[in-house]
Order: sequence, then C-alpha cells, then structure tokens
Amino acid sequence: MQNYKAILEEIYTDGLNATDKGTVASYIPELAHIDKNNFGIHLKTLDGIEYGAGNFNTPFSIQSISKVLALSKAMALIGESVWKRVDVEPSGHPFNQLALLELENGIPRNPLINSGAIVIADILLSHLKNPKEDFLNYVRELTSDTNINYNLEVAKSEKNTGYKNFAAANLLKSFNNLVNSVDDVLDFYFHQCSIEMTCSQLSNAFFFLANKGYCLTNTAHLTKTQAKRINAIMLTCGFYDEAGEFAFEVGLPGKSGVGGGIVALLPNHFVITTWSPGLNKKGNSKLGMLALEQFTTKTKLSIF
Ligand code: GLN
Repeated sequence: MQNYKAILEEIYTDGLNATDKGTVASYIPELAHIDKNNFGIHLKTLDGIEYGAGNFNTPFSIQSISKVLALSKAMALIGESVWKRVDVEPSGHPFNQLALLELENGIPRNPLINSGAIVIADILLSHLKNPKEDFLNYVRELTSDTNINYNLEVAKSEKNTGYKNFAAANLLKSFNNLVNSVDDVLDFYFHQCSIEMTCSQLSNAFFFLANKGYCLTNTAHLTKTQAKRINAIMLTCGFYDEAGEFAFEVGLPGKSGVGGGIVALLPNHFVITTWSPGLNKKGNSKLGMLALEQFTTKTKLSIF
C-alpha cells in the first residue's frame, strides 16, 4: 500500500521551495493578478482514498480543462458524428494556432486546441436547450457539487481581448464548420472556459473518465469506449505542443489550462489534480508538470 499522504506532502514541499514558478497568463487581463505562489494538489482513488495538500480547496479558472468536459457532453449528445467536424491528431502547435486550420479545410486537428473546442462549443449550442445553464448543470452533476459557477468577469475579460479566438471562429465559419453565429459560439466558449473549480472538485469531475464513464454517484455519462477515446485524446493532445513531453515525463492522460490547473488520471486507479498559476513557455503549469512527474516517479503508477 502506497503512502499517498507522505508522497503528496513531499511533492508539495518541493514545489513550494522551487525557485522558478513560471509566469502567470496575462493575455486574459482578469487572470493576470492571481498570486503565483498558490499551489495545490489533490488525489482521489477509485477505492475511496482522498488526500489534498496546499491550496487544493481554492477555486481557480479551469480554462482549457473545460474542453474535455465539453467534448464528453458533445459525445454523449451526438456520439461519433463529432468526428465529422474535428480530427483526433496531435497538433504539435500552441493552443491558439490558426495556420493548420487553413491547410486542413477548416477541420481542426483535435478537440482540445482552441479551434477544435470552438467547433465543440458550436455542437453544444445546437443541441442544448439552454446551453450555458445546461452545460453548468452537467459539470455540477459530474462533480456532485452545485457550488460550481461561471466567473462572469473572466468571461467578459476574455471576450474583450480574445482576438485570436475570434479569428479562429471566423475562419471556421468561412469553411462552414460553424452552424451558429461566431458571437454566439464564442460567448458560450468564453463562459465554458471561465468556470471556476478547486482541485478537489476537478478530481471529482474527472472521476468518470477514470471509471469507465461512471461518475461518483455511479451514473453512466459515457460508454466505456467513449471514456477510452477521451483518455486517448488527452494523452496525445492534452498539452498542445508539450503533449509528448507530458507523456514522456508523467505518462498519464491529462489536460492543462492557462489558469494553471492540470488534471491527470490513471484509468481504473485514480485522478490527480494540481493547481499553480505560473506557466512555462508552452502555457502549462510549471509546478504542476513537476509535481505530476514526481508523483508517477515516486509511485511508479503510470499507463506505461
Ligand atoms: N480560454 C483560453 C483561450 O481560449 C483557454 C486557453 C488555455 O487554457 N490553454 O485562449
């Protein structure tokens, strides 16, 4: 039996003492003032063990981590048809890259880069009755927690400065890969990214992907095959042009966000979430990457 508590505490202390904690994202002005000394880790195992260290109960902006939950909702709604509009190949490029879109006739490389997530947002907009309300309820249901909300200031802040996302959405529209208007799709997308959650809430939310599609209350939200597919996409595409590095160093499917969160999981075993707002050059949390590398090294638990 592993001493998870001791391992998490060791990793936490090492992270606190790190000299380079990365740089907080400032292209979304509302995120720029978050203190980069925040650091939290939370582990939840399928057999009921749960430990947290540091700021694991502080809400933060989940940003791109929301793309996984949006994808799972889209798959639950329309199944395999999702793949007619977005591919499943790693991009090897930053999350906001536009060039590939033009080369590939408006079919984004995968659903976890911005252009792909904007197409998924369009699908949700077409299939949910009250899109923003229904999506928030879906996240609350997955997490078994009604205390999760959009941060409207963050959504507004990104809307005011999200020029690249407007460019991506316009390009998608020009290739007829958006059904709804650019403004409506981006309004939904910016809200989706602005959801705030704590590390422990995120571990709960992603539990179903480690548990063959069944959430904490044992409700099936995806089939076993769909959960497998999302985990495969997280492994190959969850960290943009650092997906290879994450697989190499950590060896788990996972997803990062520019708010500094990372969720990773070992199917049938556990979900682990970290939060530290300082990012590395590729836009992934500096301490989070370090902490997860140490976790899989110390426990020898990875998919490999
Ligand atoms: N909302 C952010 C954006 O669209 C999400 C990016 C991220 O977390 N990598 O730019």
